[in-house]
Amino acid sequence: MNELVGKRALVTGGSRGIGAAIAVALAEKGAAVAITYAQSGERAAGVIAEIEARGGTAVAIRADSADPAAIERSVKEAAAALGGLDILVNNAGIARYSNIADFTVEDIDALLAVNVRGPVLTAKAAIPHLGEGGRIVTIGSAGADRIVGTPGTVYFMTKSALQSFTRGLAQELGPKDITVNLVQPGSTNTDMNPDAGEFAEFQRGLSPLGRFGQPEDVAAAVAFLASPAARQITGTILNVDGGALA
Ligand code: NDP
Repeated sequence: MNELVGKRALVTGGSRGIGAAIAVALAEKGAAVAITYAQSGERAAGVIAEIEARGGTAVAIRADSADPAAIERSVKEAAAALGGLDILVNNAGIARYSNIADFTVEDIDALLAVNVRGPVLTAKAAIPHLGEGGRIVTIGSAGADRIVGTPGTVYFMTKSALQSFTRGLAQELGPKDITVNLVQPGSTNTDMNPDAGEFAEFQRGLSPLGRFGQPEDVAAAVAFLASPAARQITGTILNVDGGALA
């Protein structure tokens, strides 16, 4: 339960859904946590209050992952508030769905900016703060390996990019004893993909377990990869998808 005591973690997009569950899970194991958010100041404050009520340390920073200057500022603020950084979780992401004929340049740019450029720039800003035993965990999607509905093509494409990013960065940072891994959720019950949504039954049918995951299921995988027990795991992809890719 205490394996992250003394560790300092930054979780992007921690105000809701999977990111909020990750922040709480890391704090439960003893880490001091900074979260970023784009809009939901009140919900971010709720996550901080939840962590503090359980005796943890947490801070919320407003920073749009589509904005390079905001990313740099938020990493600096997080490191200053926590006294350094040991763990980065690149979670912030957006989904936009459309058939290719109707996909706008604005949609493509928004997806690439938040889902691809965001994690790259956040890692770039965080790496100078990470020491031996540092951890980078990025949240991709099982949809990178199995397209779930063609309107998701461009969204899933952004998640495929994170696979190469993870493998390359794992090679680059291995000599510094920093691990880099990718967690790919399947259908997970959040605002982005509610388990009572229009396509929920279809998605349940894709998984041998026949159910949506909860944000806590993804958070448990991230907390493990962030822990000292996972020190020999790097450059890998862990699917938390109820077996949808099996
Ligand atoms: P939600 O939409 O429920 O929450 C998204 C979180 O990311 C919020 O905290 C939001 O902040 C933050 N965020 C969004 N855009 C930005 C931005 N530009 N800058 C900073 N923060 C931002 O999504 P999920 O929790 O479902 O998704 C989390 C991750 O998991 C994403 O990367 C998603 O692609 C991935 N994923 C989700 C799956 C699912 O079924 N739910 C399946 C596979 C992958 P704010 O509250 O301020 O808007």
